[in-house]
Amino acid sequence: MHVQSIPMWTGKGNNYAYLVTDEPSKKSVIIDPANPPEVAPEVKSQISTGKIDLAAIVNTHHHWDHAGGNDEMLAQFGKLPVIGGSNCKSVTKTPAHGEEFKIGDRITVRALHTPCHTQDSICYFMQDGDQRVVFTGDTLFIGGCGRFFEGNAAEMHKALNQTLAALPDDTKVYPGHEYTKANVKFCLHVSQSEPIKKLQAFAEANKETQGKFTIGDEKLHNVFMRVNDPEIQKATGKTDPVDVMAALREMKNAM
Ligand SMILES: [Zn+2]
Repeated sequence: MHVQSIPMWTGKGNNYAYLVTDEPSKKSVIIDPANPPEVAPEVKSQISTGKIDLAAIVNTHHHWDHAGGNDEMLAQFGKLPVIGGSNCKSVTKTPAHGEEFKIGDRITVRALHTPCHTQDSICYFMQDGDQRVVFTGDTLFIGGCGRFFEGNAAEMHKALNQTLAALPDDTKVYPGHEYTKANVKFCLHVSQSEPIKKLQAFAEANKETQGKFTIGDEKLHNVFMRVNDPEIQKATGKTDPVDVMAALREMKNAM
């Protein structure tokens, strides 16, 4: 499995599209190609040089800065399946929670429904041999999580601390935006733990952090995945994990 990040709206939304390729068959999917002027030339060049065979568009959720490029991509690349949440533009297939499908010969994809940021949010866990990655859209960021636009703290707690936390610890995280610097600032406001300081040092030295951290790392440095940590409970004044999640989100929103 080869994962290529395609940054979009750098300096503004700091979004990422991702081109995921099954190397033996060259079958590929493009995840959240929301700004075709920045994505299509790269995809086109790889098709014309025989590096990839584009098989589908995949969306993490319906927001315009994730699914808003679908129609333009379909116009440029022909009739492709659009795999995504039920409210995504021109979606043709919404996988059920836990449903699996293949990309080419080797990549197995498992859809994980993680409603909260939007009700149609889906994370995609992909495995090729012992290589494991997850595309988390605006549900899980490095050191943070998405806003609760269409859901509540109980749903985000379930998404992060049950659904995503159950993935193997060595699963690399590819989020929908590069927000790590701002996220680590908030984490430090809540806790000065060593893993958070390490994440801060990495974010200071590197512009891009996607694919550099794992679910295991997030459990250590992401305060939204540490709702049972007494230090985080103390900082929020709450003990129930859902209350801690709600308080963290309110504190972050106010920052
Ligand atoms: Zn969003």
